[in-house]
Amino acid sequence: MSWFVRKEKGINTPTEMKREVPDGLWYKCPECKKVTPAREHKLNAYTCPYCNYHDKIGSEIYFEILFDEGEFKELNPDMRSADPLGFVDTKAYPDRINATIQKTGLKDAVRTATGKVNGREMVIACMDFGFIGGSMGSVVGEKIARAIDHSIKKKLPFLMISRSGGARMMEAGLSLMQMAKTSAKLALLSEAGVPYISLLTDPTTGGVTASYAMLGDFNISEPGALIGFAGPRVIRETIGKDLPKGFQKAEFVLEHGFLDFIVDRKELKSKITSLLDMIQ
Ligand SMILES: [Zn+2]
Repeated sequence: MSWFVRKEKGINTPTEMKREVPDGLWYKCPECKKVTPAREHKLNAYTCPYCNYHDKIGSEIYFEILFDEGEFKELNPDMRSADPLGFVDTKAYPDRINATIQKTGLKDAVRTATGKVNGREMVIACMDFGFIGGSMGSVVGEKIARAIDHSIKKKLPFLMISRSGGARMMEAGLSLMQMAKTSAKLALLSEAGVPYISLLTDPTTGGVTASYAMLGDFNISEPGALIGFAGPRVIRETIGKDLPKGFQKAEFVLEHGFLDFIVDRKELKSKITSLLDMIQ
């Protein structure tokens, strides 16, 4: 029968168009439950092709997505947390830090780097939720402060990508001081006339929301991100009322005037470039 006969001879797919997907590598979307080949999910900047759910990613992938050819120079890569309070919960704090470094390959919950984004040199600080819930301790505060210093010195735009559960309880008051320190540095950045874009990703809460994450010249967010200070349960119990639908989601926060716009991760790089083109 004619439809069994190959009309054109040979295989016509150019080699570069072929996608080799190793067996067993699939991504299942936690939102719509649909399955995508892992490779396609990666090409889609780790967003679901069906429902656009933005998967939670860390500094390694953000740097790869944003910096041209994935090339950058990390600032203060070896800074590690001390234990000034001798804090012990279920584990001693230094043991927890060591175990997390072993597990994640990261030194703390933020990485800061400089490199080119569409040809423009800039400084990017990106938090890693995998490191004790992206908690802000003295290393996070200090690395961000030094990254801002670098931005001021070299007059380079600063992008902060936040993902955090808030302050690091193992550092108690020292952790809270990072809010003041980073805010003061951002005031100097503003005085120097260097632009600051803050990108809030899922979730950005606690002391991070209450300091640098909300101090951008532009505060932008990924779709569907949870953004708040205290969690919904705490607020519900405090005010004794049910919360509105979509409370603390990026779209709700935008509608109430706390965000400038929501950006799809696939357009993040081009949006940042056009934003900086407009103001510089
Ligand atoms: Zn989905």
